[in-house]
Amino acid sequence: MSTNNETIAARAEAVIPGGLLSPSRRLGAPIAFARAEGAYLYDADGNRYTDYHCAFGANVLGHRPPAVAAAIAETAENLDLIGAGVLELEVEVAELLVNAIPCAEQVAFCSSGSEATYHALRLARAHTGRKQIIKFQGGYHGWHDYVAMNGQSSRQMIGSYDPMSDGMLFDAARHTAILPYNDAGAVEDYIRKNPGEVAAIIVEPIAHNMGAVIAEKQFLADLRRITSEHGVVLIFDEVITGFRHALGGYQSIVGVTPDLATFGKAATSGYPIGILAGRREIMERVGRTGEGAVFMGGTFNGTPASMAAVKATIGELARPGVYERLFELGAYLRGEIDGIIARHGLKAQAAGFGSVWLVYFFDGAFRDYTDLLRNDNDLDMRFRRALIAGRQVFQPLQLKRLYLSLSHDRAVLDDTLELIDTTMAGLAR
Ligand code: PLP
Repeated sequence: MSTNNETIAARAEAVIPGGLLSPSRRLGAPIAFARAEGAYLYDADGNRYTDYHCAFGANVLGHRPPAVAAAIAETAENLDLIGAGVLELEVEVAELLVNAIPCAEQVAFCSSGSEATYHALRLARAHTGRKQIIKFQGGYHGWHDYVAMNGQSSRQMIGSYDPMSDGMLFDAARHTAILPYNDAGAVEDYIRKNPGEVAAIIVEPIAHNMGAVIAEKQFLADLRRITSEHGVVLIFDEVITGFRHALGGYQSIVGVTPDLATFGKAATSGYPIGILAGRREIMERVGRTGEGAVFMGGTFNGTPASMAAVKATIGELARPGVYERLFELGAYLRGEIDGIIARHGLKAQAAGFGSVWLVYFFDGAFRDYTDLLRNDNDLDMRFRRALIAGRQVFQPLQLKRLYLSLSHDRAVLDDTLELIDTTMAGLAR
């Protein structure tokens, strides 16, 4: 007899391409989730899982935080989508963001991180009158044709056009240069060789789409200097780092302020959102009509449920000690994992920043994508599959980051650490 999980997965296969809403949702086993609470997920057969996927990072407070659920319910008593005029709720949220985020003199809302990066790049091109953009190998900024390329490329494809999808327009991508992360010299060189061509640099200030490659402070400071010197718009893509590492984004930690920044994921605790924030002089084009205007439409932009969720999430994240706790939990987990790795004599290391973590299966330092080619993908995948089999929700893809939330207390982590210990023992054999 089929389990509920298998029955639902089979129904999904029939009516949804691939049976999943994106390839990144694949877990390698038919699991149909039915309930979420705190650090745990429950499937249609009543099995409990510890969630280290945290909805691609959107859940930083844990699942279904009561304050967010209450705010949405209260908002729904008076408002659903209006799509005309302005709502005080939107203004309140924009004011909170302008107060929290260093680069934010104005903000605009859309429904996803991909939309936010698309609009940031369109705005940068309009502002500079130039076409070319620079992104870094291993970075991910969404699904659109300007940037959906050169993620986990093979060694041969590094630096040349490596699209993530069939059907993408090479004519769009031809204006995107791919450079190595943490290499300001390569950026300066490119801009000097292409004078007056580069509109924007888009960069994850911590490259969480390669796990956790942290930008050297000097790299970000150099990007700031180079972009200012050459009239290029500097965009920090803080879709992962924003709200998760600090209310003001990683820019508030590192002390480098970009011209524009994009946010999403953890801003709402799981409701659709994209946020574009930046300098007034650039952002104002979005509100203009006529010459120099940038069109940023969207039926669901700033939908009240999402606005209520941002406001309530910020309220929770602003409580004293929240970020200290997230960082302490992350440091504890990484420290324990490094102890396990050392005990079993594996060539691996726990990596991460704050509440983002993963295990790299190589030793030694790393600062750009090519360093990560040393990862033992086979061990990485065996590790992930074993954890999934032990009812931990893990992305079964090498180098993919994992998350913690405020609901992952030490007891939750200790249960997982036991499983990591037996798994690592098996890998060491
Ligand atoms: N930017 C970064 C850094 C991301 O990690 C992602 C998604 O993972 C995006 C943009 C795209 O966001 P969304 O999936 O909400 O479109």
